[in-house]
Amino acid sequence: MVALLKNEYDIVIVGAGPAGCSAAYFSKFFDSDNKFNVLLLEKFSGEKYTEYHHMCGECISHAAFNEIQPLKPKYTIENIEIYKEHVVDNYVLEHKVKGYIIDRPKFFSYIIDEYLKLGGEFEKGTLTKIIQKNDYYNIEIDDKKTVKTKYLIAADGANSTIRKSMHIKDINKITAVQYIIDKESEHNVIEVFYDEIYNGGYKWIFPNGMTTKIGLPQMKDKKIKIDGKIIKKQARVIGFGGIENRVYNNIVLIGDAAGQTNAMSYGGIRPGMYAGKLAAEAIVKYKNPQRYEIKWKKSIFNSEIVNESFQKLEKMNNKEIIEHLEPFNSNIILAIMKIILFKKYRKYWKIYKAYNIERKIGW
Ligand SMILES: Cc1cc2nc3c(=O)[nH]c(=O)nc-3n(C[C@H](O)[C@H](O)[C@H](O)COP(=O)(O)OP(=O)(O)OC[C@H]3O[C@@H](n4cnc5c(N)ncnc54)[C@H](O)[C@@H]3O)c2cc1C
Repeated sequence: MVALLKNEYDIVIVGAGPAGCSAAYFSKFFDSDNKFNVLLLEKFSGEKYTEYHHMCGECISHAAFNEIQPLKPKYTIENIEIYKEHVVDNYVLEHKVKGYIIDRPKFFSYIIDEYLKLGGEFEKGTLTKIIQKNDYYNIEIDDKKTVKTKYLIAADGANSTIRKSMHIKDINKITAVQYIIDKESEHNVIEVFYDEIYNGGYKWIFPNGMTTKIGLPQMKDKKIKIDGKIIKKQARVIGFGGIENRVYNNIVLIGDAAGQTNAMSYGGIRPGMYAGKLAAEAIVKYKNPQRYEIKWKKSIFNSEIVNESFQKLEKMNNKEIIEHLEPFNSNIILAIMKIILFKKYRKYWKIYKAYNIERKIGW
C-alpha cells in the first residue's frame, strides 16, 4: 500500500475517524479547481478498523448534519426520538429529541468514497515520525516511507502521536467502557443514568438494532452489575476539555487529538466533524490555518462553561444531583419559575447555562 504513495502532498490528514474523514472530504470539497493533493492516512483496516469505530454509542443528532452539509446521515441503525434521564433512581426526565444511531464504520466509508470521487487519496499506514523542515514537514509512514507535506492535520484520536511528538500539554482523558448486550432495547429511545458513582459522567443504554449498548466511565475500584448477556466488552479513551492552541504553524489538531469531545455528554462525533470542516476550509480556501483556530475559539463547541460545569458535576453527591435537576421534573415554564424564585437553585446557575448549551450541541 505505502509503495503507492506520492513523495509529496499539499495536505496529509492522519486518522480516518469522524474528524479526519470530515477534514479529508471538505479539503476536496473546498478545492473546486482540484489543485490540492490530499492524503488521508489510517493505521487500521478491515475488522480492526470496524471494531475500533464501533467502540462508540454511535449516537449523533439531526442538527449535526446542518453543519456538515452536503454530507448525509447514511447507514442509520435507529431513529432516536426520546431521551430519558434517570436521576439517581429518584425520577426520570423525558424529552423529545431528534437523532440517529449510525453505523460509524459504514458511515465513514461513505464519506471516504465521496472524498475519493473528488480526487483525494486514502492509504493504510501508521504515521511514525514527523520532522519539521523550513516550510514543510517530512512524515515517516510505517517507519519506512517518507512523505513531504505542506499542511498536516492531526485527527489521530485522544492518544495522538502528533500531539505527543510536538510535546504539547496533554488533554483530559477518560476511558469509557461499553458492553454489547444480546437483547433488543426500546427502539427510538436513548437512556442515561446519573449517579455520584459515575464521577460527573453517566451510564448510557442505547438501542443498536438487535443488540443494546451499555456504557459508562471506567471505575477500577467499583463493581457495576450489567443486566443481560454480554456479547462483547470494549474500552476506549475519550479526549475532552480542549487544548490551549490547535494550530502550530501548518500543523492543525482536530477531534479528540485536540480534546474536542464535549465534557458533559461525551459527544465527540459532531464537534470532531465540525472542526474537520473548519480546518479544511481555513487551509484550502484561505491558506491560513489560523482561521480555524479563530473560528473554533468563537464557536459554541469551545465552551468553558461546559468544562467548568463538568468539574462541578464531578464533585456532586447524589443529594445535589437530585436537587439541581429537580426543577426540570415539571414543565419548562414551571422549571424556569422555580429556578428564579428559589434561592437554593441559584448556585447551579452556570450548570443550567451549560445544560442549555448541551441541548443545542451536546451530541
Ligand atoms: C465507549 C464510547 C462511546 C461513545 N459514544 C459516543 C456517542 O454516542 N456519540 C458521540 O458523538 N461520541 C461518542 N463517543 C466519543 C467519540 O467516539 C469520539 O469523540 C470520536 O470518535 C473522536 O473522533 P476522532 O476522529 O477525533 O478520533 P477517533 O475516532 O479516535 O479516530 C482516530 C483515528 O486515527 C487513527 N490513528 C491513530 N493514530 C494513527 C497514526 N499514528 N497513523 C495513522 N492513523 C492513526 C485511528 O486508527 C482512528 O481511526 C464515544 C466514545 C467512547 C469511547
